[in-house]
Amino acid sequence: MRAVFSVIFFLLILALILCAVFARRSHKPIGQSLSILCASLIFPVLGNLILVISRNELLSFIGSHVYVIGMDLMAFSLIDFTMAYCNVSWRRNWKSYLVYTLLTVDIIQVFLNPFFGHVFAIKPTMVEGSAYYQLVPFLGLTYHRIAVYATVLISIIMLLAKSIRVPRIYAEKYYVILLTLLLAAAWQTYYIVAQIPIDRSMVGIGAFGIILFYVSLIYRPFRVLDKMLANVASKLPEAIFFFDTNKNCIWANEHGLKLVQLEEESVEKAPSLLSEMFNDFNKQEPEWTSKAVIGSGQSAKYYTLKKQNLTDAKGSVIGSFFSIQDNTEIERQLQQDIYNASHDRLTGLLNKDALFQEIRETVRRESTTPYWIAYFDIKDFKIINDIFGKEMGDFVLQKIAKWLRVHSSSNWIFGRLTGDAFGICFPSNEPNVRMVEQQISKFVLSNGSVDHNILIHVGLYKITDPDIDVSIMFDRAHVALNTVKGEFNRHVAIYNDMMRNQVLWDQKISAQLEKAIKERQLQPYLQPIVDHHGKIIGSEALVRWIHPEEGFLPPIKFIPVFERNGMIAEVDKYIWRRACEILASWTGDKSKLFISINISPKDFYFMDVYSEITALVKEYGIEPSRLRVEITESVMMTDIENRIAILNNFRESGFIVEMDDFGSGYSSLNQLKDMPLDGLKIDMKFLSSAINNERSETILRYVVRMSKELGLFSLTEGVETKEQYNMLNEMGCNLFQGYYFAKPIPLDEFEKLIA
Ligand code: C2E
Ligand code: CA
Ligand code: CA
Repeated sequence: MRAVFSVIFFLLILALILCAVFARRSHKPIGQSLSILCASLIFPVLGNLILVISRNELLSFIGSHVYVIGMDLMAFSLIDFTMAYCNVSWRRNWKSYLVYTLLTVDIIQVFLNPFFGHVFAIKPTMVEGSAYYQLVPFLGLTYHRIAVYATVLISIIMLLAKSIRVPRIYAEKYYVILLTLLLAAAWQTYYIVAQIPIDRSMVGIGAFGIILFYVSLIYRPFRVLDKMLANVASKLPEAIFFFDTNKNCIWANEHGLKLVQLEEESVEKAPSLLSEMFNDFNKQEPEWTSKAVIGSGQSAKYYTLKKQNLTDAKGSVIGSFFSIQDNTEIERQLQQDIYNASHDRLTGLLNKDALFQEIRETVRRESTTPYWIAYFDIKDFKIINDIFGKEMGDFVLQKIAKWLRVHSSSNWIFGRLTGDAFGICFPSNEPNVRMVEQQISKFVLSNGSVDHNILIHVGLYKITDPDIDVSIMFDRAHVALNTVKGEFNRHVAIYNDMMRNQVLWDQKISAQLEKAIKERQLQPYLQPIVDHHGKIIGSEALVRWIHPEEGFLPPIKFIPVFERNGMIAEVDKYIWRRACEILASWTGDKSKLFISINISPKDFYFMDVYSEITALVKEYGIEPSRLRVEITESVMMTDIENRIAILNNFRESGFIVEMDDFGSGYSSLNQLKDMPLDGLKIDMKFLSSAINNERSETILRYVVRMSKELGLFSLTEGVETKEQYNMLNEMGCNLFQGYYFAKPIPLDEFEKLIA
């Protein structure tokens, strides 16, 4: 028996040494305290080992001291370890020092025992035929026991308090230590009270150290981990199902249960419900990912499904899991984004990019019927916006979009190109232009009381080569459209090679303009303007291009081209300069003559018209009243306030400002009242219809009278006959211009005429 226990104690000591060494090497914060505790546990065991093997009184006496002092050291390190383990904040304050003092005093008094014999003595008993020395307790040992038990009790209280305070899943960590400590303490107490030789409770002390080592350094609380993982998985946004190797569902998280509408208890029903929902669920492959849509339209739900096997460390399958991610929101957002990126917000039609893309793809597909491109443009949309307001403008666009939706066939592709332009691509052998005319003439915009006809122009282009860029197809349709822009009774045009040639011609003369100006191919012709006596008092400068190849070009041939591409500003600046040059050259009687110059509405976009003209007048030293400026109504279509300011500037600087072509355009009489003007140039259309037409004559008479009453002089253009001249004179018109007096003529001819 003694031999057995000596071996056991010896092995325990070895084990404790190993624990102490490994604990010291550990990087965990508890390692240090644990190492000291394991080391200190060696001493009581060592003391008992000595007692078991020695049969000699002195050695046993020493062994007893090692045991008793060892218990003190154990108590010391136990309290230190417990405080560290439980994260007790008073580890280094007076409370702990009180315990340390209690124990230190005890160690000192035990050390003094050999001299005073106040703690214990030893007495032999017979064990297996030889002497085994047991303690005979005195008062000092009672103190010793109080000190050690008090320390152990404090440790127990700390562990208990901690285990109550922490969340339940963590309490286990404290319970294990608490329980071993209680067992070891009870066992030891039993031996102290029972006085049985050979203290077997040392096995408990040693085991306590080893268990401590395991629990605090090696053991990972798997239950904690399990619980945590389950919690995390439960809250995951995906639905998750776990299956065992027999394909039984063993667990589902919150979303999973919600998806199949099951309670946790009936989770085994999940597979059948899942296979009803998702076809892919029954796939045979062990691992797969797929996408699924349930329902359709607005209520459609989008899912990503994933099945994966779970393996253990050796790689054998221990089950599988199935996850379902609800992508509905992302998918909706994506679809919305795609829609937004490809559709026009106001009309809901395809936007330009998407339209081009779709047309490109469609026309490149094999087709027996040819495709056509239609460029759909609202005439004077700016004016609709201006007069009726932006809301009305938007309404018109929406109305046209609606019309397109209603009247289009399923094989049409259409969308919005720009502000007021729409594009269509449709298959047809030959579009019925007459029918298109009829259809588009039906747009009427009503703002309650007034109906406003909306003019739409359509340019058509037949796609002969599907590989050319869609934007070029639309450019060609637009070229066709441009040819009917100025016409009154034709609104649809089909692109043809003549138009193409026109475009080429436009490009050619545009490229030649700079050189032409330099070489004085452009000439101002002067058309006399006469007073009511028939006397020439001035002239209008009208540009002519004496082209080296094309011959004599009237302005109608090139002015619209340059108005479209902005080069009109160069032409005008040049003609204004030439007019000033002429005015400056006139002396004597001629110095009283004026020249009217034309200002294109486009000029305002490309230059500061007022500064440009005043600078010229200054440069040539001309009286500003001799340079009359003609503007048309359309100048006032945009940026009205600014334009009024410019006209005011002209008048304040002494220029005479006339409204050209009055009566040919919109003739908003309302605008007349605000416009700073000196005279009205009445359009020749009025005059041509006034002879033999009483109504026209009346209107003309009233326009002349109105200008007088507004304080404006009147000038009638296009006077071709004596009869017209007499009639206008009788009406009170102030000035006259027309073939009856003279056509626009070169400067030298004009000068001869004056002479
Ligand atoms: P406009 O300013 O209304 O010029 C009057 C036009 O009527 C001139 O045509 C003139 O030749 C023509 N005309 C004059 N008397 C008669 C007549 O008795 N009967 C008929 N049937 N026609 C007559 P033109 O010179 O061909 O100019 C046409 C238009 O070109 C001008 O109309 C003007 O808008 C524009 N234009 C001409 N020169 C210039 C210029 O230097 N700059 C700008 N921006 N536009 C110009
Ligand atoms: Ca004019
Ligand atoms: Ca005119």
